[in-house]
Amino acid sequence: MNAAQTLKVFNLRHTAGREQVLNLFLNAGHALAHNDVENGLGPDHDRVTVYRTLRTFVDAGLIHKVLDDEGGTKYALCRDACADGHHHHDHVHFKCEACGQTTCLNEVRIPTVSLPTGYDRKEMNLLIQGVCQDCNK
Ligand SMILES: [Zn+2]
Ligand SMILES: [Zn+2]
Ligand SMILES: [Zn+2]
Repeated sequence: MNAAQTLKVFNLRHTAGREQVLNLFLNAGHALAHNDVENGLGPDHDRVTVYRTLRTFVDAGLIHKVLDDEGGTKYALCRDACADGHHHHDHVHFKCEACGQTTCLNEVRIPTVSLPTGYDRKEMNLLIQGVCQDCNK
């Protein structure tokens, strides 16, 4: 499915900007920070529009937030069914110290953690840091 078709499936109005941003994610294969998206678009873009586009994509269930070790936020494509706007991810994220890229390990599930009585879990993130497959070659 290409970017234009994906926007349609997710009931998002097609704009050239949205298609460009989505293509960056489809081609990247790893999580992108706001700055990565801006750099990928080149000099001819509007910062606020990029910000809104990312928010729209998160709300639509197209991309999800990936917490970074430096406190920043990155975004990655959703592979699970998040089309209802609720994100149900329980996969591990991996941050490579060599190339700096964060990847969704979609097949690696976050282990179950039991919490003491009185604590309600809403969200759980697991970021593993190390050296990625590409840098290990
Ligand atoms: Zn999601
Ligand atoms: Zn790496
Ligand atoms: Zn992820």
